[in-house]
Amino acid sequence: MIEKSIETLKGIGEKNLKLFQHLGISTVGDMLKFYPRFYSDRTVKPIKDLNGGQIGCIRITALAPIKTMRTRSKMTVHKLYATDGNDTITITWFNQDWLKTNFDYNCQYNVYGDVSVSLYGKEMALRVMERSDRATTTDANVPVYPLTKNLSHNMVVKTIKQCIPYVSEIPENLPSSIREKYGLCGIGYAIANIHFPKNQQSAFFARNRLAFDELFYLQLGLRLLNKTKDRLKGTVFNNSTEIATKFIQTLPYKLTNAQLNAVSDIINDTKNGKLMNRLVQGDVGCGKTVVAAIALLIAAKNNCQGAMMAPTEILAKQHYVYLKEVLAPFGVNVVLLTGSLKAKEKNEVIKSIKDGSQNIIVGTHALIQKDVDFKNLALVVTDEQHRFGVSQRSALAGKGNTPHTLVMTATPIPRTLALVIYGDLDVSVINEMPPGRKEVKTYSVDEDMRNRINNFMKKNINEGRQVYIVCPTVNENEASELKAVTKFAKTLQNTVFCDYKVDIIHGKLKATEKDEIMSRFVSGEINVLVSTTVVEVGVNVPNASVMVIENAERFGLSQLHQLRGRVGRGEWQSYCIMFCNGGEVAQNRMRVMTDTNDGFLIAEQDLKLRGPGEFFGTSQHGLPPLTVANLYEDLDLVKKAGNAVTDILNYDCYLAKPENKTIREDVLKMYRNNLTL
Ligand code: ADP
Ligand code: MG
Repeated sequence: MIEKSIETLKGIGEKNLKLFQHLGISTVGDMLKFYPRFYSDRTVKPIKDLNGGQIGCIRITALAPIKTMRTRSKMTVHKLYATDGNDTITITWFNQDWLKTNFDYNCQYNVYGDVSVSLYGKEMALRVMERSDRATTTDANVPVYPLTKNLSHNMVVKTIKQCIPYVSEIPENLPSSIREKYGLCGIGYAIANIHFPKNQQSAFFARNRLAFDELFYLQLGLRLLNKTKDRLKGTVFNNSTEIATKFIQTLPYKLTNAQLNAVSDIINDTKNGKLMNRLVQGDVGCGKTVVAAIALLIAAKNNCQGAMMAPTEILAKQHYVYLKEVLAPFGVNVVLLTGSLKAKEKNEVIKSIKDGSQNIIVGTHALIQKDVDFKNLALVVTDEQHRFGVSQRSALAGKGNTPHTLVMTATPIPRTLALVIYGDLDVSVINEMPPGRKEVKTYSVDEDMRNRINNFMKKNINEGRQVYIVCPTVNENEASELKAVTKFAKTLQNTVFCDYKVDIIHGKLKATEKDEIMSRFVSGEINVLVSTTVVEVGVNVPNASVMVIENAERFGLSQLHQLRGRVGRGEWQSYCIMFCNGGEVAQNRMRVMTDTNDGFLIAEQDLKLRGPGEFFGTSQHGLPPLTVANLYEDLDLVKKAGNAVTDILNYDCYLAKPENKTIREDVLKMYRNNLTL
């Protein structure tokens, strides 16, 4: 019985049960799905093959009685002189007197530990000792599990061993046609062999199958989330080309070809009743906002509402101000809805959204609150979408009668990953910068340069430019030397920049305060803005030309690139200066930044240096976690699993066929309430 509690297994008392429950394990089935992180090689080797510094396992018999000594710190040290039949070794361990008491001199033992070599010959600092005829955690490739404190590794291995006979009860989820086509072993075999692989090959097949399953469910769920949209029709937008052309004529610049292509993709998507589901991807500063503005205008001119959601209040406000300015001449109403509006104001805004008197609604997460209803929402734009989870995005889409969706991101994601995460989203890439942009010159510097950099900032301010200084924390913490916004700004105002206006902005300020400071920075009244990463995404002040980043070693590469993107947004030569106090690893990361301005390359490096987990934690997106598979290394499996999803949905799009019953149950469970079939 796979559903039975692990309490019924040998060795599980109340204490261990609690510890296992801490890991989310209560049943035999849970236990079987607790996969090892990796394997340690505890196969038995001859003594002569183990060198000093190695960890290994040998099979020994005693050559003399165990000697016991007491150390000054009241520990006992046991020494056992032993042979494997050819060579000799001294096994040493501390305390654990019972190992000596129970030692049977007529038996062979497997011992596993750290080998060293001294004048007296080979020694092993013991980790595990077992009688050879009763070995459970030696003489094999032993799985290593992610553990919690107090739960011994042996305990886990012994418990899982008892569960292995139950693998035959685990229902096979994948139809045999799929398993054959993609060369996958059975689920029971895979689970048994992920824990205790018979050999290298069975270990490979086991991992392959389980990684495939994870990637399969990940993509299946995403595909189903989007499928509801596929089946439905989107509002038809008429006269889009005329509307867009008129608008473009009012702009003070010419759109780049890449921008024009994105616009025409959007027009094509929305002209014949298909539902648009499009990602616009382009490096910071390439001009995505104006593309969104055109899409929103088209919606409004078709007597529909359009909404634009941004991850921060600063950014939402900025979009609001911009859209109002450029769209007002076309007789379009624009309104801002954020969490910081006063209750009375908010109610009025919500009312005007509901009765349709607002055409374009800009906001933060406040847009997806329960009390917000739209009259006829037909287009949803999500800016900097990587900041939102899957469910947040679909929550806004759920507000309308299946509105078109347009998501925008500056964080380039390798194509295959984009496919996994966004399913069958169409992609427009803006791979061209507006003309006349000068590359941001980037430097990594240390404290010795402090004076020169200060003078450099002054020089730029005297030429009429503005400066950002970004620090990692808000309040100085005595223990840390991190430059803290508040204190640092004060010092700067009183010393270096006493002739200029310094101000601060950070997430802990009230929204109205943030607004006020941002608008003073935009108007040029503030020369130096000391800030946390609240300015990281989207903020657009083209007159700012210097970005100084303190403790740059604290930031991820993609984050540094986003920060750098705050400058170089106008016609001026711009600079990004990173103060870095880190060692070699940090210096290498700085080098990536100074070597390239290409956000795509930087994202790839980020992925390599930090690993996919941190770069792209799936849990933050509301997706089932990957424990075996790895989005970065298993690209081939990603594709195969994606194909398998297509195979299945092509003939059974509601997962209603009996052979897909387990798949249906699994995927519903994994995505909880987000999915309906
Ligand atoms: P992002 O893609 O990072 O969101 P924005 O939309 O904020 O970039 O645009 C950055 C700046 O470039 C803005 O000041 C915008 O007005 C300007 N811009 C956008 N498109 C063009 C263009 N084709 N030519 C010149 N400037 C442009
Ligand atoms: Mg932007």
